[in-house]
Amino acid sequence: MTKMKSLTAHLLTVSVASYAFFGIISEAYPRDVAKPTQTPSIQQAIDQAYAHYKTVTDGTNASYISYLAKADTKLYGIAVVTTDGKIFKAGDADYLFPVESIAKVFTLAHVLKTQGSDALQKKIGVNATGLPFNSALAIELNNDKLTGSPPPGNPLVNAGAIAAVSLVEGDTPDAKWEALFNTASAFAGHKLTLNKDVYNSEMADNEHNLAIAVLLRSYNYLYADPAETIDVYTRECSYNVTAKDLAVMGATLASGGINPVTHQSVTDAATSARVLAVMATAGLYNTSGEWLYNVGLPAKSGVGGGIVAVVPGKMAIAVYSSPLDAAGNSVRGQMAIKSIAHDLGLNIFTVPTK
Ligand code: GLU
Repeated sequence: MTKMKSLTAHLLTVSVASYAFFGIISEAYPRDVAKPTQTPSIQQAIDQAYAHYKTVTDGTNASYISYLAKADTKLYGIAVVTTDGKIFKAGDADYLFPVESIAKVFTLAHVLKTQGSDALQKKIGVNATGLPFNSALAIELNNDKLTGSPPPGNPLVNAGAIAAVSLVEGDTPDAKWEALFNTASAFAGHKLTLNKDVYNSEMADNEHNLAIAVLLRSYNYLYADPAETIDVYTRECSYNVTAKDLAVMGATLASGGINPVTHQSVTDAATSARVLAVMATAGLYNTSGEWLYNVGLPAKSGVGGGIVAVVPGKMAIAVYSSPLDAAGNSVRGQMAIKSIAHDLGLNIFTVPTK
């Protein structure tokens, strides 16, 4: 009950802050209307976005996970990795931080590859919930007895991600974790590390996610033991990445499953396309529609302050900055990616001018 109260209080606090944030957004995007006369280089676009938003202080660290509440709000890093393996960076692009919800993308890729696309649609679902990332109400509203949709909703919100983890092959939590961690590490191109402090901090405060798992189980939409599933789910939220890692991971999706740095085939093109489709519909929590409308790129954020956007066939852009908006998305991360995507003309819905 106390945990629930503190989460609600966090969302309310950030909601109030977000009114100021929306004001800042419109003021902070003068380049929206002033299209650059000449397309800058990738490094120039990153440097401009870095400099332009460096002093922004809007947003609030995720306060419901004590480790994240203490993050240094000044840290700010941007990385771009292209599908031909070039790496561009600005600021704290090599700073390690907890991946949090962005892990859901690579678990989704794993589950799609191992269980198939039909299983994903029938057992989890692929529609946006339109509700906060940790909503238990969304499970009730998506109850198939009422709507015909599977109640986990989609694999990029907590309920769907928890259901996805429960589908991972392996007889023990360790075996499931190894399978997921190996996939994530292959996306990054090197062995990632688990941040035990984050894991312990989240496990100490995890009743809400456990409640989601038990509720899913009651509807027969959790496919393993609830407590064991939450243990693996929490491990996946707790591995460390850098903005550069996220850009490599995103660029692997951008190139149809081939890691552009290691050249390893991590997944296939069909899986990458489906993962990107789910990112487009549900990657930025309940503001995913606004993001796609304004930026035109599939993306995923996490409450650790990371965000990665993917430009199919071209590149991925990743940012780390811990202060979040009301929905749980990095404030500066959204600003920087929007600026870079605009300056480089990356919106996937824009018809190229001849
Ligand atoms: N570990 C976090 C949770 O389950 C992840 C949330 C997120 O990044 O969206 O609440």
